[in-house]
Amino acid sequence: MSKPFKQELIAPCGMNCRICIGYLGYTMGGKKRKNPCICCRLGDKQCAFLKDGCKKLSNEEIKYCFECEDFPCKNLKKLDKRYRTKYEMSMIENLEYIEKNGISKFIENEVERWKCPKCGGVICVHNRKCYNCGI
Ligand code: SF4
Ligand code: SF4
Ligand SMILES: [Zn+2]
Repeated sequence: MSKPFKQELIAPCGMNCRICIGYLGYTMGGKKRKNPCICCRLGDKQCAFLKDGCKKLSNEEIKYCFECEDFPCKNLKKLDKRYRTKYEMSMIENLEYIEKNGISKFIENEVERWKCPKCGGVICVHNRKCYNCGI
């Protein structure tokens, strides 16, 4: 069965690494990766999101971007806009939800939101595919 959703898999920027194509082990071109991404919080370098461009994140000064006085900063807004437009998912909305309701409740919702209707596996945010059953 597929790996669970865990708190460590929710990145500081509000991305859920569990549903990322990199974590699921594929490229956008459809190839299987030799090394799947191990997620943001475990110090992976494959992610082109915010960590490299933000000292607070790379120094681990904050756990989630909503703790930052600049939240939501220009870079996060840009990333959020790209994800809302292309993938119908918002990091900023995720973060606001976590701030208000807590991480456990957020994860509960995420499990349902990204559950494959056929096999119960995890649907990828980037291409809406379930790599467990292939639909
Ligand atoms: S590529 Fe980025 S968003 Fe995807 S799993 Fe890795 S750290 Fe998370
Ligand atoms: S919101 Fe703050 S912590 Fe998050 S990326 Fe922007 S500047 Fe860095
Ligand atoms: Zn499935």
